[in-house]
Amino acid sequence: MITNTPNAVRTRFAPSPTGFLHLGGARTALFSWAFARHHGGTFVLRIEDTDLERSTPEAVQAILDGMEWLGLTPDEGPFYQMQRMNRYREVIQRMLEEGTAYHCYCTPEEVEAMREKARAQGLKPRYDGTWRPEPGKSLPAIPEGRKPVVRFRNPQDGVTGWNDMVKGPIHFDNTELDDLIIARPDGTPTYNFCVVVDDWDMRITHVIRGDDHVNNTPRQINILRALGAEPPIYGHVPMILGPDGEKLSKRHGAVSVMEYDKDGYLPDAMVNYLARLGWSHGNDELFSREQLVEWFDSGNLSKSASQWDPKKLNWVNAHYIKHSSDADLAARVAPRIQALGGDPEAVDLPSVMALLKDRAETLNELADGAMLFCAPFAAAESELMDQHVDDAARALLADFAEQARGLAEWTPEALDAVIKSLLTQHGVKMPKLGIPLRLVVTGRKQTPSITHVLAILGRDLVLERLAA
Ligand code: GLU
Repeated sequence: MITNTPNAVRTRFAPSPTGFLHLGGARTALFSWAFARHHGGTFVLRIEDTDLERSTPEAVQAILDGMEWLGLTPDEGPFYQMQRMNRYREVIQRMLEEGTAYHCYCTPEEVEAMREKARAQGLKPRYDGTWRPEPGKSLPAIPEGRKPVVRFRNPQDGVTGWNDMVKGPIHFDNTELDDLIIARPDGTPTYNFCVVVDDWDMRITHVIRGDDHVNNTPRQINILRALGAEPPIYGHVPMILGPDGEKLSKRHGAVSVMEYDKDGYLPDAMVNYLARLGWSHGNDELFSREQLVEWFDSGNLSKSASQWDPKKLNWVNAHYIKHSSDADLAARVAPRIQALGGDPEAVDLPSVMALLKDRAETLNELADGAMLFCAPFAAAESELMDQHVDDAARALLADFAEQARGLAEWTPEALDAVIKSLLTQHGVKMPKLGIPLRLVVTGRKQTPSITHVLAILGRDLVLERLAA
């Protein structure tokens, strides 16, 4: 059992850049970040780019973009494994010299045959230790011209265990663990080995990662011990499931974090929502980054899988929109209006945000709503006009224009007073005036509060459209 009481917490996020920053990765990054911040420690970013076929510069950039968007700034890094090859080779050489690793000249076919044999005997398929040095054992002759792999000399008895921050005590029998290949015939180090050397060199004290890595952990611990290093504390977080209980995947909608940016989610909302996937603080659902950092210790991490809930995400996002400043929303929504072909400068955008933000779940909804003011004016279809703007309505609109023109102040309250008095004078209900007014002034039958819309459009524009 590892008992490690570090004084300076150092965590890391170690993504393999194979596409984009997905939700599970973002959640792991967030937990590692929050844990480091909580302890006044250091958050390291390490790019595990040794899979040359799948790692691309674009994929690296996508991860950096995702983290920047979420505001998860690393204190150190990004470090790139591909730039550390010499260091891995150096450690492998050292292990060969110390006898904690050895050359194995078996071909992959031979190893497969060993496995078959074990299986046939009802045993766990494994490497049979042909090249493993033992006191008094003589090794086979080295086959000519064959390049060896390097294997780690795993302990053959006892157990390897750790007290997982999330799952509690976990143990593996060492007999279950093969002598892992740590370098390929061409000398390139393998995945688990690079992770070990990096966690060691980067003095990582706490590894928070997905529980798909649980099986790697005893191997990594044994290698660290062989190097004389104290293993970090591990915490394996359960995966995120889709709303249907299956592993979260593209079928459930966007899995890339940056898609959520595109779809109009606020980074703060995303951070708040992601934090609750596998972690809790009492019944708190809405909290600031500062609160998250204050509360995020190793307690309250959930052992069970969490479920992606798009409705809840929308609810959280709506909360953050509602509590954002009008100016901040305007700045975020302006480019979205442009993308819709509208002109964000056509109106006082912060006022529009004030009008719309209580009801919007996404920034894109705000942009859609703002198009009422930012798109070129399109008159209502004549059918609609014929249906709702009859002679009585025309008389009402004329009176309205008349009284509105003389208003001392062009405010929703003043406009409201005009409308109320007109309704009484003409003895009609609101829709009789509201619908024609909307149609004539905005071209639409439905809008948010008409007095607010009129106030934002401004006196000149409203009177001009009424006159036309
Ligand atoms: N690179 C691994 C991954 O993306 C994570 C390694 C680790 O956290 O130890 O799944």
